[in-house]
Amino acid sequence: MVPRPITLALAGNPNSGKTSIFNNLTGTRQKVGNWPGVTVEKKEGRIRRGDREIIVVDLPGTYSLTPFSLEEVIARNYLLDERPDVGVVVIDATNLERSLYLATQIRELDCKVLFALNMADMARARGLTIDAAKLSQLLDVPVVFTVANRAEGMEELLEEAIRLADSPKPPDRTRRVKYSRDLEEAIGRLSGFLESRIGDRLAWLPRWTAIKLLEDDEVVKERLVAAAPEAARFVLEAAAKLRRHLSERYDEDPQIVLTDERYGFIAGIVREVQRADARRRVDVSRNIDLVLTHRFLGFPIFLFFIWAMFQLTFTLGETPVSWIEAGVGRAAQAAAALLPEGPLQGLIVEGVIAGVGSVLKFLPNILILFFCIALFEDTGYMARTAFLMDRIMHLIGLHGKSFIPMLMGFGCNVPAVMAARTLESPRDRILTILITPFMSCSAKLPVYVVLAGAFFGERAGNVIFALYLLGILLSILTGRLLRSTLLAGADAPFVMELPPYRMPMVKSLLIHMWDRSRIFLRKMGNVILIGSAVVWVLSSFPQASPPDSSPAAAAEEAAGGQDAVEARGSQIRESWLGKIGRAAEPLFAPLGIDWRGAVALLSGFIAKEIVVSTLGVLHAVGEAGQTEGALERALLSSGMTPLSGLAMMVFVLLYLPCLATVTAIRRETGSTKWMLFSIGYNTAVAWLVSFAVYQGGRLLGYA
Ligand code: GDP
Ligand code: MG
Repeated sequence: MVPRPITLALAGNPNSGKTSIFNNLTGTRQKVGNWPGVTVEKKEGRIRRGDREIIVVDLPGTYSLTPFSLEEVIARNYLLDERPDVGVVVIDATNLERSLYLATQIRELDCKVLFALNMADMARARGLTIDAAKLSQLLDVPVVFTVANRAEGMEELLEEAIRLADSPKPPDRTRRVKYSRDLEEAIGRLSGFLESRIGDRLAWLPRWTAIKLLEDDEVVKERLVAAAPEAARFVLEAAAKLRRHLSERYDEDPQIVLTDERYGFIAGIVREVQRADARRRVDVSRNIDLVLTHRFLGFPIFLFFIWAMFQLTFTLGETPVSWIEAGVGRAAQAAAALLPEGPLQGLIVEGVIAGVGSVLKFLPNILILFFCIALFEDTGYMARTAFLMDRIMHLIGLHGKSFIPMLMGFGCNVPAVMAARTLESPRDRILTILITPFMSCSAKLPVYVVLAGAFFGERAGNVIFALYLLGILLSILTGRLLRSTLLAGADAPFVMELPPYRMPMVKSLLIHMWDRSRIFLRKMGNVILIGSAVVWVLSSFPQASPPDSSPAAAAEEAAGGQDAVEARGSQIRESWLGKIGRAAEPLFAPLGIDWRGAVALLSGFIAKEIVVSTLGVLHAVGEAGQTEGALERALLSSGMTPLSGLAMMVFVLLYLPCLATVTAIRRETGSTKWMLFSIGYNTAVAWLVSFAVYQGGRLLGYA
């Protein structure tokens, strides 16, 4: 008697190696390729083994058995209807989790299953070891290792398949995906109905059918109606009721809950059977993430990192900053000695050297700040901040991805505005761009350091940290406001990818840090230098009264006495700059800012550092012999108080973005309208908030 033929069906993810195995087994010369649709046609090959005829079928590649795509429907219908003797699931051993998602679904069908762990060579090369015996035992499925492109393991595969085909039908699977209680209850109820009402007229396993009904599987529903029209109506109604019940229970479509739980089951299996170096690294990442992206701990830890970043920026920066200050002082002395007294000496010493020097000395702070940002980026923590901020960003109607441009804004707003390009929706992009300037950029840092240093001494670091938080808060409030008015819309869903944590390479950190700091240095050479010179000229002309008209004044100036400083002060008052400042003063007076502050703020539109260099020029710092902390002392004696200093810092934090950022906003939003909006809105917010700070503080009794 000739034994009956055996049918083997090859199923698996696309690119898992099905066609390679098919070709090895059947010997049919076929092209091995991955053109979409190539395997959608059914490929069949017949071979003989002794007196056995074996039919091999190459099924289309799929990731699951939900009837979403044509390939999935073809593969599933074949397994369900043609009932091959053995389903050979080709598993990509380098991608166990994804492969098992399909494999466990096929295993739930009423069909004998054999796993071919293909790509065994690649898995080995990547340091992955899979415990086949354990996998086989856990899932109650025979497992064979194969390397299809080298035809390894084909004999074993065929032998095992024949053995399995000839073996008696296995009893119900002992190891199956166990769903949570409510789901199992529903599955139990429904399969009970299927058994009692439809019974043998249904060709599939009741449990499987019940699960598909809870997933609202259209194909299964149709087939049920075709098989038993009367009984099906009752079962479908029961299924619909259970689905509604489950949706309420889980606050989620049952199909999603079932998928999640299947993945949970698979994750457990992968953990048991797979050992890997690479895998271990991912696990380390996962463990770190358990803490760093923890629901409650994650956010305070993030705040701590930011706080630590600023502490480091100031404490580590202190010493080198004082060196630069001393150097600038010596340069001023040398220039004063070299140059003949007169306008040129004034321009160089009081203008350029004082102006550039007052900003340049912050280079160490800026380097440290950029180093910290590079550290966040290179370790992979930056991506986590997006994840952490996701919930908060949703308050604005943006997702966490928008937070990365914002965090980069701590460094410089220009690249930050450009980083918003990664957002797909134009509305999200514009909104992100508009709220980014509230993130306090590094150019504002010198302003804070000078003002907070002068007025808050020891507590300067905390004051500056609070300013950064205020910036974040206002960006969130602005986001909410715009989301419900000008830029209304819903946030698009997206999947947050968390790369594994990496040990940062010192070299790459230094390169990142230097790339960004170079921009800061270049600004010293052009914008700030020219700005300081212009401010000096505007502050020195027209000359109030020729300084050398009175011999007494000249003598005093030579002696560098207090009166010389006062003379310079009254000169500036009467200069063009003084006139501009005093014209603007009424606008700034309610904020506790005098005409000198007003001028400094106005000049800050060119670049925020200029606020400091202008103050330096206006307060006549940098004259030969000036020493460390001179600007701070000058500010203290100028009539400003801690409260007005705070109001001024708040204004600097919030007011219009600098020229370069404004240009970037116009370019990236593609509209002058948004640029003007940004200028007007930010300035208005700045004025109102600093008004509230200054007047509120006065009401509370602060000076
Ligand atoms: P299918 O989409 O499942 O039919 O996959 P194919 O059989 O077309 O194989 C996809 C690619 O993987 C081809 O380039 C094969 O040569 C290659 N391939 C298949 N099996 C293996 C294997 O075990 N090891 C390696 N390194 N490559 C394989
Ligand atoms: Mg193929």
